[in-house]
Amino acid sequence: MQVNTKRFLTKSRFKLAVECPTKLFYASKPKEYSDTMQENAFMAMLAEGGYQVGALAKLRYPDGIEIEEKSHAEAFAKTLEYLKRDNIVLFEPAILVGHFFIRIDILIKQGKRFELIEVKAKSYDSMNPEIEGKRGGISAGMLPYIQDAAFQTWVLQQAFPQTEITTALMMPDKAHHSEVDGINQMFKIGERSQVEVKIPAEIDAKQLAETLLTKVNVDAYVAQVLGAPMSYPNGQGMLSDVANVWALAYKNDEKIVPAIGAHCGACQFKAPMGEPLKSGFHECWKEANHWVDKDFAGGTVLDLWNFRGKQKLIDQGIYKINQVTRDDIGTFEDEPNETGLSRMQRQWLQVVGIPADYDCGGYYFDKSYARVNMAAWHYPYHFIDFETSAVALPFHAGMRPYEHVAFQFSHHVMLADGSVRHAGEFICVEPGVFPNYAFARALKAELDKDNGMVFMWSHHENTILSTILRQLSQYPNPPEDAENLITFLKVLTKGGEREMVDLCTFAEKAFFHPDTKGGNGIKQVLPAILKVASKVREIYRKPIYGAPNGIPSINFASDAGFAWVDDFVVEPYARLKQYAKDLLPDSIADETSIIADGGAAATAYARLQFEEMSQVGRDKVVAALLRYCELDTLAMVMIVQAWQFDCEKY
Ligand code: SF4
Repeated sequence: MQVNTKRFLTKSRFKLAVECPTKLFYASKPKEYSDTMQENAFMAMLAEGGYQVGALAKLRYPDGIEIEEKSHAEAFAKTLEYLKRDNIVLFEPAILVGHFFIRIDILIKQGKRFELIEVKAKSYDSMNPEIEGKRGGISAGMLPYIQDAAFQTWVLQQAFPQTEITTALMMPDKAHHSEVDGINQMFKIGERSQVEVKIPAEIDAKQLAETLLTKVNVDAYVAQVLGAPMSYPNGQGMLSDVANVWALAYKNDEKIVPAIGAHCGACQFKAPMGEPLKSGFHECWKEANHWVDKDFAGGTVLDLWNFRGKQKLIDQGIYKINQVTRDDIGTFEDEPNETGLSRMQRQWLQVVGIPADYDCGGYYFDKSYARVNMAAWHYPYHFIDFETSAVALPFHAGMRPYEHVAFQFSHHVMLADGSVRHAGEFICVEPGVFPNYAFARALKAELDKDNGMVFMWSHHENTILSTILRQLSQYPNPPEDAENLITFLKVLTKGGEREMVDLCTFAEKAFFHPDTKGGNGIKQVLPAILKVASKVREIYRKPIYGAPNGIPSINFASDAGFAWVDDFVVEPYARLKQYAKDLLPDSIADETSIIADGGAAATAYARLQFEEMSQVGRDKVVAALLRYCELDTLAMVMIVQAWQFDCEKY
């Protein structure tokens, strides 16, 4: 059978088209258009535990047969051959009909009845199943999963019109806990992303899968999706109709006219102009608005920080940020009060720039807010940052799927005399070792030496420590020092006597630089503030970091010292990226994002847990993780120094 493998509407392409039909055109040209999702697909699947959940699901059906053929034609032929049997369970069967081709996760055939099961690495709580939204209908969070299942059901029905189909989702269930230890390590990732399952003989694999994964019948929701028009950007139609339109456009490589809107803000085909791979985003906006390159120069309304009315503006024909009026933003005071910049005031600064009265030299700094808040800080200052992961399969008996795992922290200290040092760190990436209690113990050892202020960036650290507190209180077999750790964590978390201070909130209230586009992520604030903080730049352009008489560092120590900025790179994260390549093992040397990109630390952790890697390779990834996390807390130090030395004078 001759089959053109490139031009079918698959389930992932259907999902893409629901987000925006124009994406189909760009998705078919990976060598021509930049696609951030494509780059991250494997890593995202790894980090969220998709491979392991898929393998676990199959254990529920010990008689299931895997369709291993890769080519569309061979896989389809094999599937048809097996489906001649009356009763069978197939994994990854291929269904090809018209311009549609799908691989179903699990298909159970019993006579003329099919059960289609879509396995999702999405945490689900059977005690609180939130498939329906608060205002009725399918919740926004679940809708893409139900639409995916509905599409597959519809395609299967086209292929086998005489059968009765029932549809289910299978997901890790947070309401259930593991009854055995070490599940996490029973599913390793082998070559070519294959999961190698090694279940000890004494464990009932079927029972294990039934405990941790819940199968949810979604027939009623699938019927809802198939029985009413579904919405997509700038249009709606019955799934059967729109799927046919999209499939035909994809087959003929026709670009569906872009319907630009707020959804373009998350478009994966957006890339800086001038890169080797083209930016689909810029192409769409030019096409829709008859723009040229320079029309993007001042920014679009999509850049407005934390603004919910983007679609409304676009509907009114307002596309550029400088077309936005004060009324569009809302009602707000001209001047910030003692609570610092409000959300709307930040948005307005983005639109009109910084008024001359408040311009501190290309940026805004609310000195009165800063003075009041910084006066309450007391030395030593402790800067902490965590790297964490949410692992699909539990480490130990008693744990639930998707528990937070805290595997790394870094700690910098600043004293009243202005001296700074990288004081400590923790990392535990041993396969199968649950690190949270050792993490809390190490953090206690770092912070218990004095009563200085503890700073974090965003609420994440508080969330993680609260999680460990709960785990210590609720899980079986707590460590001997559980009470001590609980007391320590209570003091540090929200409401405690030594509650951590969130520097991200401080930045949001007190500091604005146009380069941050209103955002307050540390990777937005650091490069922006270093542009204007000449005193801090001067400190770090000298090779003092890690030098014998410079700023003590655990991971950058050398006789020559390390300079974080120079005339060309005024951005420490870019500097680290330059170093990243040398540290990674050959097998992942192209993935420098593993250590130069925050979220990728969780992926690195997943690789260290589940992939076979040489000791040399592991050591390199660990070294890279340590350097990355050290920079995160150093970045917090640099920003506070900039507020103290450079911004303070305003
Ligand atoms: S830029 Fe907007 S219209 Fe174009 S593909 Fe992306 S989401 Fe669709």
